[in-house]
Amino acid sequence: MKNKQMLIDLSHTIENGLITYKGLPAPIICDYLSREESKKLYGEGTEFHIGKIEMVANTGTYIDCPFHRFSDGKDFSLVGLESFTDLDAIVISVPFTKTLEITEEHIKPYEIKNRAVLFHTGWDKYWNTEKYYENNPHLSQGAAEYLKKSQVKLAGIDSLNIDSTNSKDRPVHTVLLGAEILIVEHLCNLNSLPKDGFKFSALPPKIKGMGSFPVRAFARI
Ligand SMILES: [Zn+2]
Repeated sequence: MKNKQMLIDLSHTIENGLITYKGLPAPIICDYLSREESKKLYGEGTEFHIGKIEMVANTGTYIDCPFHRFSDGKDFSLVGLESFTDLDAIVISVPFTKTLEITEEHIKPYEIKNRAVLFHTGWDKYWNTEKYYENNPHLSQGAAEYLKKSQVKLAGIDSLNIDSTNSKDRPVHTVLLGAEILIVEHLCNLNSLPKDGFKFSALPPKIKGMGSFPVRAFARI
């Protein structure tokens, strides 16, 4: 029998007016060139749409690279494709109904070296509702230090922020991005994944001077 691959989408849909993070503006999606206007430019029966989007980088499901946190860190033009694509991955489930703080104790039972570690909390069920934006499940600083020591490639979470937003510090971003470990936030659908034995990808465009950007995050099983 042939090996059959399956792709699982782990990204939220971005649409006009969507609030991803309270305090940041929602994207404005509109026409730059409408189909109707384009008819003047092309031959009979030929029309196109060219859209325009105005948004902050932290919109929808997005990835952070070191430049997001550190002025001398690598931006997207400097991070190689291999950091975003087909990473050997594992899911660690820590339901938000049990605890909002994920510590190193939750991670220690798992083999994580050189892997993308995706934290499944279930918080994505509150996406685009009032409840999503505060008291979010997150990692402790100790958990981040454990991920760094374990040399993981990437950390992802299906929550508002991988840090707690109840304080003004962001120790998890500081530790992980300081070690060039990429972060993906606002994932969804992690409950559709096996615990391991899959590959994770989350690709941003190759943009200079940007440290966070929306991605199409997915798993290949
Ligand atoms: Zn972040």
